[in-house]
Amino acid sequence: MYKAPRGAADILPGEQPWWRHIERTAADLCQRFAYRRIDTPIFESSALFHRSVGEATDIVEKETYTFDDRSGDSMTLRPEGTAAVCRAYLEHGMHVLPLPVRLYSLRAPMFRYDRPQAGRYRQFHQVNAEAIGDAGAAVDVEVIELAWRLFETLGLRNLSLLINSIGDPACRPAYLDALRAYYQGHLASLCGDCNKRYHTNPLRLLDCKKPTCQPFAQDAPRSADMLCEPCRDHWRQLQDGLRILSIPFAVEHRLVRGLDYYTRTVFEVQPPEEGGQSTLGGGGRYDGLIQQLGGNPTPAVGFACGIERLILNLKRQGIALPPESEAFAVVACMGDAARPVALKLAADLRRAGLRAVLAPSGKSLKAQMRYIGASGATHALILGDDELRQGVVAIKTLATGDQRLVPLADAPAAIAL
Ligand SMILES: [Zn+2]
Ligand SMILES: [Zn+2]
Repeated sequence: MYKAPRGAADILPGEQPWWRHIERTAADLCQRFAYRRIDTPIFESSALFHRSVGEATDIVEKETYTFDDRSGDSMTLRPEGTAAVCRAYLEHGMHVLPLPVRLYSLRAPMFRYDRPQAGRYRQFHQVNAEAIGDAGAAVDVEVIELAWRLFETLGLRNLSLLINSIGDPACRPAYLDALRAYYQGHLASLCGDCNKRYHTNPLRLLDCKKPTCQPFAQDAPRSADMLCEPCRDHWRQLQDGLRILSIPFAVEHRLVRGLDYYTRTVFEVQPPEEGGQSTLGGGGRYDGLIQQLGGNPTPAVGFACGIERLILNLKRQGIALPPESEAFAVVACMGDAARPVALKLAADLRRAGLRAVLAPSGKSLKAQMRYIGASGATHALILGDDELRQGVVAIKTLATGDQRLVPLADAPAAIAL
């Protein structure tokens, strides 16, 4: 028996209503914020992610699915969405459009070779939004507002929005020096990964999940205290903007996010339980990324949220799906003469825009009705010899048990009502 690869899940028909609900909600919201949809390939040249996400990040070092294709080019299944959208922005010359260019993706598959656990998969799916070409803090606020409204509209409660500023190339070097100076005396107490990070990526010392490393992060120097003047302005405007929109937030100085391209604003939204392991979504500003990928200096900010994680949290909070109240008719028939009429009736219903199928053939009426009861149908349509003679069909509304005879031609209207 074959099984789906570890950490990759089938999204079965019974789960799809959750996905549909989230996708519709996200698409409506993105539309309202004037974001336009983009879909990029699920794989890109490996160099794109090395240059953008960063060589010394967990994602690139340990988590990518990388392979040589048949021409020997190194390809990587995308571990995140931003780099590919920036690549597309550059490739298609979107800088000539009115800036910022606002783009979003839905149900975008991402791939990370991670330890599978609840709500965490090796193939997972995201809603992404990116606003490219505006340096103002108002756009950071907009992206956070979009994320916050998505969770709010879906009905999630008691979420925490954590924000931080990790500075820019002007002020970060001094901060990293301060961080190294602080950690230097503690290296012997830190985990192996952190000892590496100390040299390659000291920011990541702050978000090590190991309990033995965390106390040191608590007392570490804070990036928001060491910002240059322009970064400090931006940081203040971000917080003012969130207050104006009444979006509650907390400053979390250990929040750095696991990707190298972030500058200034980083943020995460967390559900009530479990803390940092179960982030619902997050993002930040990446003012240097597009230039790093070969474009002109172009400020940008974005957000990503994992759909599996979202569904898990909707279920945990006991949030019910909105009812899908679409009519669903199943046609049952008795006798050889009724069969072609039933076939035509089901087709007519579908052409009228309704969902309709025939009950399985070759079964007794009782067995057909049993199938209808289990199928999720809203209406059973029954054709026997009597109905055939009169040119009618018996329509049973399953929710109430009411049954009436309706001329065949009127059946679509009778069900749609
Ligand atoms: Zn550590
Ligand atoms: Zn700065």
